[in-house]
Parts: sequence; C-alpha cells; structure tokens
Amino acid sequence: MYAETFWELASQKYAAATALLVTLAIPLPLVAHEHAKPRHSKLELVVLGSGGPRSFGRASTSYLILVEGTPRILVDAGPGAFLELGKLGIDLARVDTVLLTHLHIDHSGDIPAIFLDRALTSDQPIHFKVFGPQGSGLFPSTRQYLRLLFGQGGAYEYEKTFGADETVEGVDLPIALDSAENEIVAEGDLRVREVATHHGDCPSVAYRVDYQGESITFSGDMDASAIPNLQHLAIDSDLLVFHVGVLDPPNSPEILYTLHTAPKQIGQAARDARARHLLLSHLSPAIEESRRQVLQSIRGSYKQGTEFAYDGMRIPVLATKPSPNPKGKSGIPR
Ligand SMILES: [Zn+2]
Repeated sequence: MYAETFWELASQKYAAATALLVTLAIPLPLVAHEHAKPRHSKLELVVLGSGGPRSFGRASTSYLILVEGTPRILVDAGPGAFLELGKLGIDLARVDTVLLTHLHIDHSGDIPAIFLDRALTSDQPIHFKVFGPQGSGLFPSTRQYLRLLFGQGGAYEYEKTFGADETVEGVDLPIALDSAENEIVAEGDLRVREVATHHGDCPSVAYRVDYQGESITFSGDMDASAIPNLQHLAIDSDLLVFHVGVLDPPNSPEILYTLHTAPKQIGQAARDARARHLLLSHLSPAIEESRRQVLQSIRGSYKQGTEFAYDGMRIPVLATKPSPNPKGKSGIPR
C-alpha cells in the first residue's frame, strides 16, 4: 500500500508470499538460479510495528526474531504490537527474551498486554528476561520499570496471578557511550550483543543478534553521536534495522536532530558497517510523505538493498544477502 518503486512493491509481495509459504512449511527457493539449492534462513525478522510515536495507522516499534522458524526474541513492544501478534497468529510459547532499546512509550507500551497474553496461553512456568538501559533523569532503569509494572505495589501486580506461574527478571545495561559492548545472550549458537547508544535525554541501547552465520542489528532510536558505537556493533550484519526519525537538515524541527539520525548519515553508517541490507523503520507521517527523498539521500552512499518496513513484514535473513544477478540488485526481492 505504500510501495513507490518496483523493488519496494516486489519486496512486499515477496514478504507476503514468504509468510504464506513458511506458514505452509513449503521450502522456499531464495535464489532464482538453475543450479541453486533451496536454502532456508535460520534467522527471520517479523515486523510487528513499523511506526513511531504518532498514531496514523502503523503499530509503534516492535519486532520478533524467529530462530529456525520459532519465535524466540521480542525487540521493543510499542503500542499495536499486541494486535499485530494476534493478526499474524504468532505463538509466543518460546519467547522469553525481550530486548528493549529504550523505555519511550512507543517502544514499550504493549509489554503488559504481551506478557498477559503469554501467561494466558502457557501451561508451563514462564521466566521473562528483559534487557534494557539503566535509568537516568526522568527515566527509570529497566529493572525499576518492570517493578513499577509487575512488582509489589506495581500497577499490574495482579498479572502474575493470571495463567501460568511467571517471573520477570530485568537486566540494566550500561548507557555511557564509552561503555564496552557486551554479550548478553549465549544459548548454543544464538548470541545477542549490545552497546550503548544516545537518544537525547533517554537512555538507549542497540542490539545485534547472531545465529549460525546470520545476523540482524537494531539501531533503536538514536542520534548521530552514537554512530561509531552502532557501526562497530553492526559490522557485516546481514540486516541492519535503522530507525528514521528525521529528514535531512534543515527539513525537520531542529530539536529532533538531538534525538534521531538524518537519512544521509544513516546511509553512511550502513555503508561503513558493511551492512548487506538496510530496513528503515520507526516511520512517521513526515517520513511517509518524503520516502523518495529519504531513499535518494541514503542511496547517495549506501548501494545495497534498502526497504521501508511495514507491519506484518517478514524477512528471512538469507534473502538479504547480495544477489549474484547481473543487474547488481541485492536484497529481499528476487
Ligand atoms: Zn521512538
């Protein structure tokens, strides 16, 4: 519905076809080559919410990571993610790990609803492990945020009396830009790393998920001061999910440049991180109206496949690797 180019349209159709085929458990040939063997992505991304803080028809930011076809990790939980989960019929039975890039409402507002849904549909004890930034100023730490929701005296303390036995463990991550990268999940071949970013006065972090040679990095919301940290974390990622919050200067209100990275710098960061594919998300009405301009700015320095996210989009990571076709096209469409 938002497609502006053939490649964007093809991407949307491909993603829809992929979702259907995966649902039907039909092997999906990812490369249209006579001798190519069908390959399966080990990591997949499902976009539950592709919008930012405004309500204009998109759910706010949220993603699910599927490992070997099973949903395992929730990244952010903006308002609307709960609804999209139900629309897609996603089973949360193995989703115990939550990665919060920061605690703005458009990234965390649906946490209680999603936790309740999981509790009501499980007959096994649940242990949520929720990673997120330390607190600062008006922002609680992630542990404190979870206590305020589900802890003693919290707004939703009752939630633990519903459905399955449930424990919620919060992990506070460093927020100073000179903090070291950390590995926070190491379960077999599934690895998650994080690093501090910067999002105005709101503590924020970025995450990278690796599994058997495939990788996805999430910028979260960040201003340009965090680009060196993000580039280091994202180096050689198959898929870089970057949040867009502004147009190139001077086309957005000045204050927003203290919170978000301009498209030109996003393109340069994706190029320097050698990301193999770029997904633009956290979209606002202002970005929607200027999609062509945003893409042009990014393509000034980044030549790999670049797409705009949409709610319900499903991306097998393997399909984001550079295509061998002579046109030099790469990315999701084949
Ligand atoms: Zn946001």
